[in-house]
Amino acid sequence: MLEVASSKRFLAVVEPGDRGLAESLPFPFIAMVGEWEMKLSLLLAIINPAIGGVLLLGPRGTGKTTAVRSLSPLLPDVERSLCAYGCTTEDFESGGVDSICPDCAKKLGLGEPLTFTDRARLIELPLHSELPDVIGGIDERAAAHQRMLVKPGILSHADRNLLYVDEVNLLVRDVADAILDAAAQGVYTVRRGPISATYRSRFILVGSMNPEEGMLRPQIADRFGLRALVRGLNNSSERWEAYQRSHAFELNPRGFIEYYRETTESIREQILAARKRLPGVQLAPETTRLGLEAIQKLGVTSLRGTSVLFESARAYAAADGRDQADPSDLDAIAVPALRMRRSVFMDRYASDQDQEAKAILETFMQAGEKPAD
Ligand SMILES: [Zn+2]
Repeated sequence: MLEVASSKRFLAVVEPGDRGLAESLPFPFIAMVGEWEMKLSLLLAIINPAIGGVLLLGPRGTGKTTAVRSLSPLLPDVERSLCAYGCTTEDFESGGVDSICPDCAKKLGLGEPLTFTDRARLIELPLHSELPDVIGGIDERAAAHQRMLVKPGILSHADRNLLYVDEVNLLVRDVADAILDAAAQGVYTVRRGPISATYRSRFILVGSMNPEEGMLRPQIADRFGLRALVRGLNNSSERWEAYQRSHAFELNPRGFIEYYRETTESIREQILAARKRLPGVQLAPETTRLGLEAIQKLGVTSLRGTSVLFESARAYAAADGRDQADPSDLDAIAVPALRMRRSVFMDRYASDQDQEAKAILETFMQAGEKPAD
């Protein structure tokens, strides 16, 4: 699954005559040239949501958005609620009849389903979104008529989907905080006076940014699982291949997608199989030892770094069809899992504090050594 096809035969199936559809049809994931780290990180984040998503770092025009959109046909099926309040059978199982609405309680009594199976979707956060669009709210006009009170926002639509935030470094602070809190907790609550509404919001978060346009606050950067560096293609043959493919796609998007359809379907099946296998994948004792040792040596202070390293290794082993994550799995994922987790500022700060503490203690010790007058 993790190998990228490099066939040139697709040109044979491409015929002009289907222009103009490229924007609504995603470029096939498998047809993207190069950028191994970005593609691997995206696939692992889908296989194991515990990784906590991906941050793509790279200049403009390196295919970050194309890559994220190409994930659409690869996303797994999910169960969605049939009810406007979002009640699910899961809610009933964990919280009893009080955790679902009266209509759904009735349905459950009649043996009717509360959910249906649907393909997970790619939800893109529009640029310049404001807080009310993102978290939704209480529909006050409807409230006056005692009708539906909740007005879900983008975060609620993102539930069980993949949420893509382009230019995440340019988000205003409260929007960024709302997204990251929801991503961490899987739910969020909107309060307006005495009324409150709680929405489910369990999504895979993918952010992208151009580091030339300003860095992320460190506390935001830390909350993304993997950080993939997107460098652009590194040789002429890759660049030529990428050019030919994107040209062929523009000429006939449907034909191009059709050419890769079987491979795309096979990647999706492998992702599903890996997701199924994942709960049983264990870390080999040697993997745990080596991983912890490396984290210690590298001075990674963020606890999230440890969890991302091991969760990614498990996802990688699952993708490879194994039930045990070996030390070699760490080699494959360590860079995107651990980069940017060391704070140069904190290193210096801590060392300054240590020196001051030492000076304080020495002063007291010297004072204690002096004979009393
Ligand atoms: Zn309901």
